[in-house]
Amino acid sequence: MSPIPFSGNPLDRASERRSDSAWLQAKAAAGLYLPFWQNRPFIAEDRVKFLPWRSEWEGRSCVFLGLDDTQPLFAVDLPGESEPELGEGAFQEMRAGAFFLPGRDTAIAGQAKALLDWHKRHGFCPNCASVTVLCDGGYRRLCSACGAEHFPRTDPVVIMLPIFGNECLVGRNQRFPSQLYSAFAGFVEPGESMEEAVRRELREEVNLETGVVTYHAAQPWPFPSSLMLGCYAEALSRDFRIDRNEIEDARWLSKDEVRTRLAGGIEDEMKLPVTIAIAHYLIRDWASK
Ligand SMILES: [Zn+2]
Repeated sequence: MSPIPFSGNPLDRASERRSDSAWLQAKAAAGLYLPFWQNRPFIAEDRVKFLPWRSEWEGRSCVFLGLDDTQPLFAVDLPGESEPELGEGAFQEMRAGAFFLPGRDTAIAGQAKALLDWHKRHGFCPNCASVTVLCDGGYRRLCSACGAEHFPRTDPVVIMLPIFGNECLVGRNQRFPSQLYSAFAGFVEPGESMEEAVRRELREEVNLETGVVTYHAAQPWPFPSSLMLGCYAEALSRDFRIDRNEIEDARWLSKDEVRTRLAGGIEDEMKLPVTIAIAHYLIRDWASK
């Protein structure tokens, strides 16, 4: 089974070496660079396209992605209102790219996007408002005035499928595209375990009480910096009541119905999540057992 899109990154991040600036400089000299512009990776012939360093990129945010075997790979953030000319290829939206790029390219570009995007938004110290500088190949920023260190964020999000017997509950969020029904999701709050966040979100969104929570799989989701924690939640009953502020509709689906729907065997307006979303794997993996 292929990994969930954005996971399965094959690079050796060499995290124990990247704070060594001499080592990093040597890798940068031998590096290949994936250009980004407006949060979009450079893509040609359905692959992300790494290029040799160009002198006009001097001074741009540049992050170390890791070693592909022995080849050092970096990403560089390019400025400007109009799309930079880099020869054959184009800057394409990351979410769209995940549908056709090979899994390894999606994972590598997702890592690059999450990192570059974080740097773009953390040029100033949240402690004293002075300018911060990029260090350790992009895995740290240091405040030039107060010395505070800042590290790239990853925000945990729980995404869960409630299960009762042979049925799962899927819901339609008001923000979803037309007729999409999916798993439920929400940010983990400070001071909350993953399991507690799952139960709280289900209580809030559908007034559903749940017991045992089981972790299934995770997905890095670089929009901008989430880690989706996919779970199953054992519902204590079939009774639910939707919170109309967030959820438009929710329905219990049997395993048979899910299987038939995933195989395209039911033609109605209801849609299940697309294959780049972890919700697809949560639903599919449950129904396949
Ligand atoms: Zn500071």
